Amino acid sequence: MRIGIDLGGTKIEGILLDTTGAEKRRLRVATPVAGGYDAILGALVAIVTELEVFAGTACSVGVGAPGALSHRTLTMKNSNTTCLNGKPLSQDLAARLQRPIRLENDANCLALSEARDGAGQGHRCVFAVILGTGVGGGLVLDGALWPGRQHIAGEWGHNGLVENGPLCYCGRRGCVETLLSGPGLVANYVRRGGLPGLAAHDIVARLGADPVAAATLSDYCALWGRALATVVNIVDPDIIVIGGGLSAIPALYTVGREALAQAVFTDELITPIVPAHHGASSGVRGAAHLWPTPPL
Ligand SMILES: [Zn+2]
Repeated sequence: MRIGIDLGGTKIEGILLDTTGAEKRRLRVATPVAGGYDAILGALVAIVTELEVFAGTACSVGVGAPGALSHRTLTMKNSNTTCLNGKPLSQDLAARLQRPIRLENDANCLALSEARDGAGQGHRCVFAVILGTGVGGGLVLDGALWPGRQHIAGEWGHNGLVENGPLCYCGRRGCVETLLSGPGLVANYVRRGGLPGLAAHDIVARLGADPVAAATLSDYCALWGRALATVVNIVDPDIIVIGGGLSAIPALYTVGREALAQAVFTDELITPIVPAHHGASSGVRGAAHLWPTPPL
């Protein structure tokens, strides 16, 4: 059996998949951020141990985490759980569990999960997008992750979209992430004169009654189309799967799709654009899928 772990900033989720990919057990604990790196490592080991006791056998372990593993230093980078950055999480976890483990960023796990047995199943080229606290993406070709030379394939969130736009944590201005993430949508709403203190889903819910919310969503869909067109023009995926909290915005699939159709270099956009089949579970399922399905 395979264990997948989704290491998030607020919770750690573990899942046990059987040989058919069916979920047998799921555990969830709060991420012990206050305890720092060692506490998080301990929590990961505890989840694996408990799932293996249930499975009654040793399992493969895949981990999805925000940020990425530097192939040069083998340490974590770009993680918003900042105590992980600079730490050799993959090596330390492998040593504690006494087996090799696989670790990928959360967008790649989403892409793998959806390509294997989710919305992208049966498609050769799957591009998956996370629209949430950040904006990421992952590319799966013929069922396998395509990591790229620098391990950044699919990272469209840091393509430049608006000249002199909002400052991004990466040091550049106007990255896709600064405009299409949840915080990016909220910031645009406030810039347009909307009420401060609302979350992205509150703003979306005010669409019918709040003209500033309507204008913000209109901006959002236009930017979405322009940003995604750069991906479609280069990769032309067979399907685009959207995950993350903002994937629930209905206008993405109508007004946003029309904006993409206008921006892309074809007079006929036939690419399916769909929400993640496994929803919030795509990350943890994809982590388990980092190891191949064992023979039945
Ligand atoms: Zn950036």
